[in-house]
Amino acid sequence: PKTAYVRTKPHLNIGTMGHVDHGKTTLTAAITKVLSARGTGTFVPFDRIDRAPEEAQRGITINIAHVEYETDTRHYAHVDMPGHADYVKNMVTGAAQLDGAILVVSALDGIMPQTAEHVLLARQVGVDHIVVALNKADAGDDELTDLVELEVRELLTAHGYGGDTVPVVRVSGLKALEGDPRWTGAIEALLDAVDTYVPMPVRYVDAPFLMSVENVLTITGRGTVVTGAIERGAVKIGDRVEILGPGTETVVTGVETFGKPMESAEAGDNVALLLRGVARDAVRRGHVVAAPGSVVPSRRFTAQVYVLSGKEGGRTTPVSTGYRPQFYIRTADVVGDVDLGEAAVARPGETVTMTVELGRDVPLEAGLGFAIREGGRTVGAGTVTTVG
Ligand code: GDP
Ligand code: MG
Repeated sequence: PKTAYVRTKPHLNIGTMGHVDHGKTTLTAAITKVLSARGTGTFVPFDRIDRAPEEAQRGITINIAHVEYETDTRHYAHVDMPGHADYVKNMVTGAAQLDGAILVVSALDGIMPQTAEHVLLARQVGVDHIVVALNKADAGDDELTDLVELEVRELLTAHGYGGDTVPVVRVSGLKALEGDPRWTGAIEALLDAVDTYVPMPVRYVDAPFLMSVENVLTITGRGTVVTGAIERGAVKIGDRVEILGPGTETVVTGVETFGKPMESAEAGDNVALLLRGVARDAVRRGHVVAAPGSVVPSRRFTAQVYVLSGKEGGRTTPVSTGYRPQFYIRTADVVGDVDLGEAAVARPGETVTMTVELGRDVPLEAGLGFAIREGGRTVGAGTVTTVG
């Protein structure tokens, strides 16, 4: 029998962000190594974290590798995304649901385009706390690293992160992985910074249960499982839930986190839910599992939208009424018709009000964040202001 998950510490979701090759995956592996030595985690080697993209191709999981570990005071789920496109998609849609982030910057290279883009994305999706890992400090010289640190603090300040007070820790993921005590100590310092600087977010555990489905899998002999991060409320075995999309009701017959059965899961937890009598093709990514009757899906809303500039990877030309991009709302991906009202056009770099008519009903509410994408790139980020 599997060991049950025992909730002894508060749970937070964090992740590594930053430019490709700055060492996100190496650092993730190093963190698990250091904590496994402390006895509060399992070492996850580089290759096991980086194999996520293959799994995505086989349709087993989405393109995020989750690892879990504990510090003295907290339990963390940590996401490491393999490619830049995955960051944009998972961050802007909120699928990654980060309570805080570790920005990995190579001390040898300094700020690169994706460093800046991930900071911008983090700000837009409401990640309020960033801790910086100045990685590859084993290979850099101190003066250059000092300059990189200044540059990173300036970037963070420019995006409203209070760059003067953000913890910046010089690390070497690679040397820590090799067990070099100087650098395993640096990883400890980084984790301490995360523990103290990233506050415990408010969790709406008393609200009606809601989870947006990230992935669907079949467990032979057991049935259909949906995975995702619980947005609010709590769920346990025997609870009735509604699947919004098909609009069917079912009963939860199993709850797990990282392969461990749980008595009860709550807002902020990453879980797999086994659903009674639900066919594999009756539920898919983007559907919402919720307490029956607690949400009414709709397709019309107004929103405040920031249209990304060309420099931010967005469009170089304006959008106008009649524009029909894809809307990424929670884990859903839905086409929508844009109406810009009186203004009629929105230029890159502008914030505008728009009315949207989606191609299908989805659970919406004021305050919900979403992304607008077109041809595989993010062109806008918005917040729902009114529904209907
Ligand atoms: P990612 O694309 O951000 O996930 O970067 P990876 O973790 O895949 O690392 C990219 C390259 O940088 C690899 O060749 C690593 O071995 C190397 N690397 C990562 N961390 C360090 C470090 O702390 N010091 C040095 N010298 N090299 C590193
Ligand atoms: Mg990587």
